Amino acid sequence: MALVVQKFGGTSMGSIDRIVNRVAQKVISEKKKGNDVVVVVSAMAGETDRLINLVKSITEEPNERDMDFVVSTGEQVSAGLLSIALNNLGFPAVALSGWQAGIRTDRAFTKARILSINTDKIKEYLNEGKIVVITGFQGITENGEVTTLGRGGSDTSAVAIAAALNADRCDIYTDVDGVYTADPRIVPDARRIPVLSYEEMLELASLGAKVLQIRSVEFAMKYRVPLRVRSTFAEDEGTLIKEEDETMERVIVRGIAHNKNEARITVERVPDKPGIAAKIFDALADANIPVDMIVQNVSVDGFTDISFTVEKNDASKAERITKKVAEEIGARGVIRDDKIAKVSIVGLGMRSHAGVAGKVFETLAKYGINILMISTSEIKISCIIDEKFTELAVRVLHEAFELDKDEKERALI
Ligand code: ADP
Ligand code: ASP
Ligand code: MG
Repeated sequence: MALVVQKFGGTSMGSIDRIVNRVAQKVISEKKKGNDVVVVVSAMAGETDRLINLVKSITEEPNERDMDFVVSTGEQVSAGLLSIALNNLGFPAVALSGWQAGIRTDRAFTKARILSINTDKIKEYLNEGKIVVITGFQGITENGEVTTLGRGGSDTSAVAIAAALNADRCDIYTDVDGVYTADPRIVPDARRIPVLSYEEMLELASLGAKVLQIRSVEFAMKYRVPLRVRSTFAEDEGTLIKEEDETMERVIVRGIAHNKNEARITVERVPDKPGIAAKIFDALADANIPVDMIVQNVSVDGFTDISFTVEKNDASKAERITKKVAEEIGARGVIRDDKIAKVSIVGLGMRSHAGVAGKVFETLAKYGINILMISTSEIKISCIIDEKFTELAVRVLHEAFELDKDEKERALI
């Protein structure tokens, strides 16, 4: 007998019909194999957006504690509904909210991190033979305040629970049958990737492939939880995400990710002297705003420009803070551009193959796509471009690297 954690996303939980006829059936079939089953659910499709919009219709910068109080409720509804459906079908189940399931987080409301999970209650119910249905996305602080884990956070709830329970498997059920070489909504001939490494998935997720929340992959990697992404609506093997093995470096580019969710902020004519960058980025860190790419131009006459990207959600706050610092340090001004996108290619094989960057830049140039910023790591290359070229860039890079072909049939560079 195995212990299996299953997670169902918003589209899977999108209607009563889907909850009863799709999700409950997947859960029951796992239970019928004689396994202990813990299920983690998202809010019904569109519900989290609806709740956020309700809050934002009052104010653009709400008190984040109370925002989480509202936004976390979607998951409670869907967990309750699934448990009711399972009981009604003759399979004893119980619904637990984040606090009832012992999920402790820090106080970073709207993007809280899980600190620990006390699994006593979950185990108690499993020992009674029950299917345990837990709300994704939410946890509780030491003081009993409800928190949420950031958009897509139910993935992280599921993997963290799987790690805490030392589960044999964590299956992420969604509306696609695995992780693809690019978002299948944009590239119709994208291919399902059968197996990839935690590291590649971590890059893809952090670069915008929203099929998994990045922290869920971090947890899986840290605690070696074998992760499978699969479809709620089909029978399939999905994509297995696991530790790297020696065959994986043979594939140069595993996938392409894009992200339209960032904004670029440029501080113009910054005096080029020690300590200035620290002032800007310390102020952003103090406000808990993560910064992604940073580029500083070559200095001319003792002045330089510094550009960086932040999440669009944080852009107005980041702009306000940066303007204040710009005044203090005597910079000329601050420009914000929300109409940008980041397109990235990822693959372990980039470590050992030269010429990948050249091919990316050539391909984008051939289609008249200007590159605004570049950043690289051992296994990825990211370019910031004008937002209107996003889909085109993803498609032409997909074609250039032959990602529509089987991994073994692709040309090297
Ligand atoms: P869920 O509601 O189940 O959590 P999400 O919408 O968060 O589902 O994630 C699934 C979606 O991720 C897919 O519908 C797909 O459009 C998108 N996606 C983006 N990049 C990829 C990729 N590389 N492979 C598969 N899906 C991707
Ligand atoms: N319901 C949350 C969201 O829409 C969490 C999740 O679905 O994973 O972001
Ligand atoms: Mg998701």
